[in-house]
Amino acid sequence: MNRIQVEQANKAQFYKDTVQQHGSPLLLLDCNKIIDQFNVLSDALPNVDFFYAIKALPHPAVIKTLASLGAGFDIASSGEIDLLSSVTTAERPRTIHTHPIKRNSDIRDALRFGCTTFIIDNIWELEKFIAYRHRVGILIRVSFPNPNTKIDLSRKFGCREDEVGLLIHKAQSLGIHIKGLSFHAGSQCPTSQNHVLAINRCIAIINAVYADCGKILSILDIGGGFPVQYTESVQTIEEFCSPIRDALKNLPPHIQLIAEPGRFLSAPAMEAISTVMGKAKRGNTMWYYLDDGVYGSYSGQIFDHVTYPLTTFGDKKKTAHAVIAGPTCDSIDVIADEIKLPPLSIGDLVIGHQMGAYTYATATHFNLFSKAKIIAINESVNTTNNILAFKNRKSLIS
Ligand SMILES: *Cc1c(COP(=O)(O)O)cnc(C)c1O
Repeated sequence: MNRIQVEQANKAQFYKDTVQQHGSPLLLLDCNKIIDQFNVLSDALPNVDFFYAIKALPHPAVIKTLASLGAGFDIASSGEIDLLSSVTTAERPRTIHTHPIKRNSDIRDALRFGCTTFIIDNIWELEKFIAYRHRVGILIRVSFPNPNTKIDLSRKFGCREDEVGLLIHKAQSLGIHIKGLSFHAGSQCPTSQNHVLAINRCIAIINAVYADCGKILSILDIGGGFPVQYTESVQTIEEFCSPIRDALKNLPPHIQLIAEPGRFLSAPAMEAISTVMGKAKRGNTMWYYLDDGVYGSYSGQIFDHVTYPLTTFGDKKKTAHAVIAGPTCDSIDVIADEIKLPPLSIGDLVIGHQMGAYTYATATHFNLFSKAKIIAINESVNTTNNILAFKNRKSLIS
């Protein structure tokens, strides 16, 4: 897929109007897209209860939209709990605390908010729950390294499969309730191979634990990792989830399934609108400097290892060698290198797509350039039907 799409100049009008009204740089957040993504994922995984991983895009409009659909939330810090608290919803949303390493204060903040499901992957973490054993249920995170993604989430966290039994025995002796297992198969996975492997192994563990000590595990948390289309093509979510559905058929029937999608729900919902603030000719190459870059909304190019599709406006036939760079004084602040662009003028707009996940969330204030402003559109929509459909799913997590 071509990284740069060149569109007729007249197609820029909507973006120009938006910048006229709100300034630049902007991130345009379309809440309807969040709903679309949620519905598509719900259709692809019909028996799974979703907990949005707030870290992907911690924004009130995203929280409100997903809460109105009946989604739960995956929280990992007290800051994320504060964000949830500040977004007024009549009901406290359902939450799971998924950080395998927590301070006592993190645990207490989460309990105070009403979260009772926590994740651990080692003995020391388990022992932190002795004092709260009557109030919590624990999931054990198991590590399933994924060599096929640049974002492997099983190196830093997760116990080995053969450690699960030990942790369960220890928990039983401490009077702490282990509810089930959890894994993260890696983010932006090209295929669901590692999800399928992890599910199969978890089924084996669940059966072995029952055979060993009669302990019934009732929850399997299949994490995140559902991919979206950036500049490299990926499977559709239906193609991706179909092998997962097949693997899940082998689960004992009493198991409740949950997942923690982050990227899939938020990435397609945001576009970056940036303005060319200056240009230079260096050798044969035109350099265009935008008011947003890899220290800002494009930070995912560094931290998240993705490149975003871009749109510029002008005459497709008159392209020349070009670079699109960010505003800071650092030379790694380059958004797109060795590309071809029509001539751009100072004040022209460049649009980045699929920019809702791990973009704003990891943006910095380096050089004290302000972060792009998020403008949310389609915030209050009628979602009654969606809520009913989703709330009919049974849940063990309150
Ligand atoms: C980041 C994270 C997620 C979300 O992952 P995506 O690949 O964005 O879906 C889910 N669970 C945990 C524990 C995470 O750390």
